[in-house]
Amino acid sequence: MAYVARYTTDLKTCLEKYTHLKNKFEKKKDYILENPLLLGEPLKHKLNGLRSFPLGSNFLIIFIVCDDCRRLKQKSINGCPHCEQTPKNTVFFLLFGPHDLMYKTAASSRKNLKGNEFDVFT
Ligand SMILES: [Zn+2]
Repeated sequence: MAYVARYTTDLKTCLEKYTHLKNKFEKKKDYILENPLLLGEPLKHKLNGLRSFPLGSNFLIIFIVCDDCRRLKQKSINGCPHCEQTPKNTVFFLLFGPHDLMYKTAASSRKNLKGNEFDVFT
């Protein structure tokens, strides 16, 4: 199944903050889209429902796969905008940044997800 990327405004902030990583992020997200369920590590506890993938040595990309929302009944915890109408092959890229910071901010970023999207590479 081919996966389709969507982006949050928090991700836009990350791209502005870490401009030197923009190209690297773009390559990694294309790679992740090949098989996000296999490549993304499922996060636990308060970050349950999210997945991560390394970006460089100390950075992480945080994302949601709507296929997870369906299979694992994580729709409400993830709060994807209109998840029922969102194809299950949708991947929401939430954030990227230093490992520790991601664990601190990913939960609140997810709360902002509703209706909070922009197109970054289109
Ligand atoms: Zn969803």
